[in-house]
Amino acid sequence: MMRQYLDIKEKNKDCLLFFRLGDFYEMFFEDAKIASKELELTLTGKDCGLEERAPMCGIPYHAVDGYIAKLIDKGYKVAICEQLEDPQQAKGLVERGITRIITPGTVADSSMLKENENSYIFSLYEEKGRFGVSYADISTGGFYVEEAENGQELANVLTRVAPKEILYPEENQILKKIVGAYKDCYASPYYPWAFQHDTAHKLLLQHFGVISLRGFDISAKSLTISAAGALLQYLIETQKNSLMHIKKIRKISTGEYMIVDPFTHRNLELTETIRSKNKRGSLLWLLDKTKTSMGGRLLKKAIEQPLLKKRAINERLSAVDELKNDYCLRSELRAQLGGIYDIERLLARISYGTLDARDALSLKQSLEAIPGIKSLLLQAKSSLLKHSGENLDPLEDLYRFLESAIHPDAPNGIKDGGIIRDGFNADVDKYRDATKSGKDWLASLEQREREETGIKNLKIGFNKVFGYYIEVTKSYLNQVPYRYTRRQTLAGGERYITAELKELEDTILSASDKCSKLEYQLFLQIREKLAGFINALQANAEIIALVDVMQSFAQAAYDNDYVKPAIREDGVIEIKGGRHPVVEKTVRQDFVPNDAYLDTKENTLMIITGPNMAGKSTFMRQTGLIVIMAQIGCFVPAASASISIVDRVFTRVGASDDLASGQSTFMVEMNELASILNNATEKSLLILDEIGRGTSTLDGLSIAWATIEYILKTKNLGAKTLFATHYHELTELEGILPGVKNYSITVKEMEKTIIFLHKIKRGGTDRSFGIEVARLAGLPEALLERARNLLIGLEKNAKPSLQGLDLPKEEAEEKSEELSRNISRIQQTLRGLDINSLTPLEALSVLNDLKQMV
Ligand code: ADP
Repeated sequence: MMRQYLDIKEKNKDCLLFFRLGDFYEMFFEDAKIASKELELTLTGKDCGLEERAPMCGIPYHAVDGYIAKLIDKGYKVAICEQLEDPQQAKGLVERGITRIITPGTVADSSMLKENENSYIFSLYEEKGRFGVSYADISTGGFYVEEAENGQELANVLTRVAPKEILYPEENQILKKIVGAYKDCYASPYYPWAFQHDTAHKLLLQHFGVISLRGFDISAKSLTISAAGALLQYLIETQKNSLMHIKKIRKISTGEYMIVDPFTHRNLELTETIRSKNKRGSLLWLLDKTKTSMGGRLLKKAIEQPLLKKRAINERLSAVDELKNDYCLRSELRAQLGGIYDIERLLARISYGTLDARDALSLKQSLEAIPGIKSLLLQAKSSLLKHSGENLDPLEDLYRFLESAIHPDAPNGIKDGGIIRDGFNADVDKYRDATKSGKDWLASLEQREREETGIKNLKIGFNKVFGYYIEVTKSYLNQVPYRYTRRQTLAGGERYITAELKELEDTILSASDKCSKLEYQLFLQIREKLAGFINALQANAEIIALVDVMQSFAQAAYDNDYVKPAIREDGVIEIKGGRHPVVEKTVRQDFVPNDAYLDTKENTLMIITGPNMAGKSTFMRQTGLIVIMAQIGCFVPAASASISIVDRVFTRVGASDDLASGQSTFMVEMNELASILNNATEKSLLILDEIGRGTSTLDGLSIAWATIEYILKTKNLGAKTLFATHYHELTELEGILPGVKNYSITVKEMEKTIIFLHKIKRGGTDRSFGIEVARLAGLPEALLERARNLLIGLEKNAKPSLQGLDLPKEEAEEKSEELSRNISRIQQTLRGLDINSLTPLEALSVLNDLKQMV
């Protein structure tokens, strides 16, 4: 057996091998050491014909899911090795083999997965800086391809998909680096041959049963083919399964969805909050009124993929409108949806052959709800709902079949019988009758024995070891007849058998044994039959998910008093009485609504000033969120809103040191700004919070000033921009630079303190109220007094002015020459350094030299 173990382990070196031995999965050697540590199991040893005892640990087979989940979570791969034949019937060593390899991205079992979240495995292929991407959720059967023209686009896809595992050809160094830098994800280098175009193409054609991928809108040369083919190969290899629930490839094309980059995703807290990384407090949390897991997953996707086409947005908005206003329709729909189980994941279980009788009942119950939902939707007026109704397939025959086949009280296990309904199969009924009448006989036998022996409390019982027995308590032992054979002695009495009882036992047990075996066979056939309906069921699941998301939007709109936005395309964004959807739920006092008006001519860039805590970033984020909400087809928190579709929302909000990557706050800020300015178009919305604050005042002010000019003056840029700043000098730009408008958030000044009004108004401010805000934060009064005095002094002496920035030409040239000389000296010094061999003292002295140069 150890030889068998070592053979299998040799072929699965990168996995922890769970080796089935009876009722346990055992691990040996290194695997045992790792598992015992990670899972807190006792490490034992096994004498297995080797010189030393082999380290070993084990877990009971029925508890395996939880342990696997833990190991996967910690980034291990687990290979499950099962006994492939019945040990009782095997001659010699039981045959064993790997039945599944579970990797972080290929968890298919719903008990290990989050209900409302897809779990993706990602495959990546690169050629000349362009990328082919494919990803799949094997627990739902979703399979996607996408192209990325450059690293930036790839980063966007990765943010949206957030895969658990990434596959790439092992020899590709570029990809190795990209994948290595992507955190929270398991890197799986894979055979280059699997990515080879022809191999990959052939496998895809074969799996999807087509002669060309054009039906999926994938051209024969596309790089996505390599990624998708390798992914499928990997799945087949690890899942050891036909993957029949993966029925189609969905191509996501650029231009279909708004790109939501990692910063915006994070800053606007679309699906989790910045601080706690929790769903609670995010837009997703607020909008999630879904009733099904499928709807929950689609909702998350919808939020991460706002739409770009007016028609598609309006289609959703009309559906939401109808559902919001028609209380009956909405509440009945919600009630019906509540009865639907996770059809997508049930389908995966069909494909994996893990569907049990209770799952089949869940499927049946889900089907039961469909005719009701269909008729509700058919009454609707909006096209999205009506079409959904038309396309829902009630699959009545399948429903009736399941209704007649599966026992309503079926247990989880499919081997112990009780899963087939009476009347479905004549043989099952016959065996059940035999068992039942056998049991009736038992009852009459018990009665007869009591009468014959005069033992009043004589009882017939059953246990797994001895079978049926007659039990007699101590006080009656002298009345036991000779024909009883003793089997077992108890503290309080004895157990016996008789020839007649044994005979009865045979009939009962063999009938029930035969029945269980037959039921098992029948259930396998039922499962096979269900596999034929995967396509139709998947289509239903998609419709249910969409309708669920629509009603979820409608319910959220109803609960929170949102309005339907008008969608326009002339570049104007006009929001009246806008609110921040999350902050309005959490502030203690009433939320103050604010207007926003942006266009592509006079009102392109709002400069927003006001003290800290006034509500600048709340206002900017709410504007971004309202635009995104409108584009996902949801109603918005405002009195009225009319929104021009934007191609992207860019955000540069707040600054947190990215210590992990060793970048300073300022560097991070500049990187993000660079990426925004390089990618924004006149259709974009920019949210820039305190650009330039990470450096000295004059540097910062200059960068901020130049950024505004750049946005407004660069051809094809001119993006609508919200620009919050502490540099009051920037308000001088209004009137000089067309497109700039000043706004400020008001505070009411009291003696030594201020009250926040949170109301935005036209015009700039010229005071920061920093000391007043500091006071609210609880700084000591003496410190505040000193600061106030210092401020008065500073304001008298030097108020940084923009005029000061305009140096005379000659002087400026001289300065810039000196600057570039200095820079090149600094560069030379830095290049000559060997950081690895530098002592701290030497480093300090170099630093000192550098300082002399500036
Ligand atoms: P700033 O960016 O100007 O420093 P924030 O936008 O972070 O200020 O707002 C600070 C706090 O003020 C928020 O956490 C919120 O509690 C409150 N606030 C902001 N805007 C409003 C508003 N419109 N109505 C009510 N409270 C608000």
